[in-house]
Amino acid sequence: MNTLNSIMESAMEELENLAVHCLNIERLIETISDLNEREQWVNILNMYSHILKNNFGVIASIAIKMLPTYKYSSELDDGNEKSCAVCLNDFQLNEVIRKLPCAHDFHVDCVDKWLKLRRTCPMCRACVFND
Ligand SMILES: [Zn+2]
Ligand SMILES: [Zn+2]
Repeated sequence: MNTLNSIMESAMEELENLAVHCLNIERLIETISDLNEREQWVNILNMYSHILKNNFGVIASIAIKMLPTYKYSSELDDGNEKSCAVCLNDFQLNEVIRKLPCAHDFHVDCVDKWLKLRRTCPMCRACVFND
């Protein structure tokens, strides 16, 4: 788990570096006066942006899958949430619940969909992937 986390963090860092390079290239392209040459670079840059976007998505979904889950049971009265703040339904017996690092609980399907769009807890807005 810790090893996976650190691998993911360094992969994320490398992607962020690539994003910075792309921004620099974008700025340099503005200075190219030859239109054909400029277009070539714009195409290359578009390709990189595409790769970048896809990879961020993949890494985010791996990160989401690594957050712990448990099966809901009402007898497990351990101070866990009793309902899901995303769909507002109560948890039912044996439903799979995901616990975020801030200790808030949600249906796996509900919170996974949410985390694909945002990186914060739907309840307390704490950052889920500590960055
Ligand atoms: Zn839900
Ligand atoms: Zn929370």
